[in-house]
Amino acid sequence: MSDQLYLGALDIGGTKMAVSIANADGPLGRITRPTPKSGDLGTLARQAIEMLHALCDDKRVPRDALQTLGVCSAGPFARIDGMLGLAAPNISGKRSGSADLPNDWDVIPLEGPLREVFTTVKIENDCVSALVAERTFGAVQDEPNCVYVTWSTGIGFGLCVDGHVLHGKHGNAGHAGHQLMSETSDAVCGCGNVGDLEALISGRNLGNRLGQSTADVFDAARRGQAQALAIAEEAARRFGRGLYNVAVTLDTSKFVIGGSVWQHHGEWLLPMVRREIDSRMQALTAGIELLPAALGSIVADVGAFSLVMPQEWVQAWRVSQPWDGLRNR
Ligand SMILES: [Zn+2]
Repeated sequence: MSDQLYLGALDIGGTKMAVSIANADGPLGRITRPTPKSGDLGTLARQAIEMLHALCDDKRVPRDALQTLGVCSAGPFARIDGMLGLAAPNISGKRSGSADLPNDWDVIPLEGPLREVFTTVKIENDCVSALVAERTFGAVQDEPNCVYVTWSTGIGFGLCVDGHVLHGKHGNAGHAGHQLMSETSDAVCGCGNVGDLEALISGRNLGNRLGQSTADVFDAARRGQAQALAIAEEAARRFGRGLYNVAVTLDTSKFVIGGSVWQHHGEWLLPMVRREIDSRMQALTAGIELLPAALGSIVADVGAFSLVMPQEWVQAWRVSQPWDGLRNR
């Protein structure tokens, strides 16, 4: 068995899975495959292990030298015999509101089967993983009181208070996209809630409700089209309100904001979001910074590695920024 340390990163999304492996110098390679949506309950974890071992073979890393794995996954999670499993509505047929998933999976085993192969396994949902990535290598390095938020097809948060990343009883802390927002809206979220933040403004839900993509609506708003502008202003106000609710709960210093909607329109939305936060409770809101996410498309892989990375690697990677092995595929 090799005495060199290797780390594995596994990213599980609703449509694809990605795995990478790294040594102290940086990532060695990355492969992706569609997320399985049919088969037996063990299919997803088996595919993850197969992908990691295939990448080991490809990079001439002995399979048994890879014992440490960070996992960034779509949530939420639930426990099976104390171990984390996936109860993700875009993967588990029984957790989905729609009938288009060809499986009857409920909670999908993940931590259990991974621990049968790897000695160290750390699993976080994608927003918590992104928070750890941004605290380790991104926009909020070593910031003790910060929150990651994504405004994308969904809305999610990762929370850090006094230097502690919050997990909660099943690792689901930060699902504040499902905070209730409106008693009068009939907007429905994938979780079944009516009038929660994600129902109202997520890229997918807003677009579905308007019958055109959220990107098109925001583009029209930026050109000054009055109806689109009213929709975008309301969405920005609600996003700001969501951040305000989190900030007054946690006494947050910095929000780091990612996701496709913010990536394309964040600079333009920022003053409207700021206004919603700044207009109340100065004692709690003064000085809160809103920063764009720094890691972009590599945030999931970097996050999964960061979950299990030794401190000496962190210092070296901050200098060398060895991300090419993740970007090139
Ligand atoms: Zn919801």
